[in-house]
Amino acid sequence: MAKTYDILIIGAGPAGLTAAIYGVRAGRSVLVVGGKTPGGQLMLTTDVEDYPGFVDAVQGPELVQRMRGQASRLGAEFFDDNVTKVGFKKSPFTLETDEKKKFSAKSVIIAVGSAYKWLGIPSELKFKGNGISTCAVCDGYFFKNKDVVVIGGGDTAMREALFLSKICKTVTVIHRRDVLRAQAVLQERAKATKNIKWIWNSEVLEFLGDKKLSGIKIKNTKTHQTSTLKIDGAFVAIGHEPSTGFLKGQLELDSKGYITMRSQTETSVPGVFAAGDVKDFRYQQAVTAAGFGCMAAMDADNYLHGFRAVSEAARKKQKK
Ligand code: NAP
Repeated sequence: MAKTYDILIIGAGPAGLTAAIYGVRAGRSVLVVGGKTPGGQLMLTTDVEDYPGFVDAVQGPELVQRMRGQASRLGAEFFDDNVTKVGFKKSPFTLETDEKKKFSAKSVIIAVGSAYKWLGIPSELKFKGNGISTCAVCDGYFFKNKDVVVIGGGDTAMREALFLSKICKTVTVIHRRDVLRAQAVLQERAKATKNIKWIWNSEVLEFLGDKKLSGIKIKNTKTHQTSTLKIDGAFVAIGHEPSTGFLKGQLELDSKGYITMRSQTETSVPGVFAAGDVKDFRYQQAVTAAGFGCMAAMDADNYLHGFRAVSEAARKKQKK
């Protein structure tokens, strides 16, 4: 563990990479430990149409590559491995990765994002990777000209359905309510797509099949009637949960695993900051993650200068 970095960033999605850009531009030594498959949710996204600065849609992986290239050109260092352990009890803070590599730093920014949520029913486990997926971009091709379902009613579900509609024979969206949560533009596009069908007010009871998935059993939440549907594939798109297992005992987390924040960027440990989906269950956009990354790096820089970023609680106290 030779060098102690000024800022160590855990996570290499838009939050972590923006933090890296701002950190090095503030003259700080920055290491990004980005995970074995760095890049975050954008790596699984095709057309990104709502990130400012791109007249035409940019592909998620290209956007990540550009951010990483920018951070790297400015002087950020990278190490791509999963973090398994952190030591936040005393400074300098420490971190250990899967490959047992150890790093230390005077401040840390956690930007590990979130992972897909699963339904949690026993038969889901049986067909995971064998008919059930959470990633149309990764697995859609295996269902060429087949009948699939997408479970969920948010932006992710609409994007998955639209992507799959170009490959599959039919895509049936199964949603537990009769109103979608997704943004209007995605809803409209999905509803205007001929081979996207809809099953409303329905929850999944069971995935059916012998070795391979061949059907799904659902229940109408209004009538309580159950029915089965023949399908070849199912895509679960019911949201995300924060990837914070490795932080337990080192930082305050809420009951869902999101980092408990003292201000927009400060965690319960002074000198440890957080940015992006790992603490944001509301907006979860690439652009908001990037914005939080910028704020976290500026607050880490302030902290290193010896000015503690003033937390909202402290600010309120000062006002009284
Ligand atoms: P989300 O907005 O939380 O939506 C999850 C959907 O799954 C909801 O419709 C929810 O139903 C349903 N759901 C949740 N738990 C369920 C369960 N146990 N069984 C059945 N259905 C369940 O999640 P998301 O779609 O992944 O989006 C997350 C965030 O990422 C959002 O802020 C979104 O805007 C953002 N995002 C943006 C884009 C983009 O193109 N800009 C793309 C993807 C994601 P209810 O509606 O009944 O709660």
